[in-house]
Amino acid sequence: MIFPYKLIDLTHTIDEHVSTWNGSCGFTQHTTLDYQECDSSVKFRMMNFSMNAGIGTHIDAPSHCIPGAPAIHDLPIQNLCMPCIVIDVSKQAARENYLVTQRDIIAFENKYGTIPQDSCVMIKSGWERFWSEPEKYRNNLVFPSISLDAANLLVQRNVYALGIDTLSPDLPNNGFQIHQLWLEQNKILIENVAHLYELPPVGSFVMLCPLKIRNATESPIRLIAFIQSSEAIKNPV
Ligand SMILES: [Zn+2]
Repeated sequence: MIFPYKLIDLTHTIDEHVSTWNGSCGFTQHTTLDYQECDSSVKFRMMNFSMNAGIGTHIDAPSHCIPGAPAIHDLPIQNLCMPCIVIDVSKQAARENYLVTQRDIIAFENKYGTIPQDSCVMIKSGWERFWSEPEKYRNNLVFPSISLDAANLLVQRNVYALGIDTLSPDLPNNGFQIHQLWLEQNKILIENVAHLYELPPVGSFVMLCPLKIRNATESPIRLIAFIQSSEAIKNPV
């Protein structure tokens, strides 16, 4: 089958070493039954996972901060597929505590046009270069994040999802203002986004696939981008 989009995987692989907010191990995996233990002629390996809900590339549902607001299982799939805008601040974010400013958003719009409503805005800070070094990636919770002014402008644009390639759009010393502002409007946040350098600034779409767990406030996602391709790629299935 010919699939008319190029697919980009924006997801980090989860294992027990991935960087977490509090620096502790956020994921464990063990085998509960192994091939050689199976009596049946077909052999199985069965596993059990234990993890933080907000592990790896994941989303925060509104209920992460707002009591009574929608949880992961409440999010309709129509809200999880949308146009994707990538704002590259990697030059400015050479400074580790860089705060994305309203000026960054306006400079982007001057070049590429007004950010469409109901879209997903991804902030590409370049911080994912440290993903394979969990302590450096966490960096005692100092990494590029987003200013309240910039987030307010994105709210004015009616952006629905806000993603970043760091542990959080907030640093602890700002009182988690971005989480509050964003989630109280029933919007969603995406953290630890991978491979944003593979996306164009405009023209792609993203699909967010969280685990559909009742009343979950966060969930790991498989985050997939679609780029319309004149050279249709062959779907391996
Ligand atoms: Zn968060």
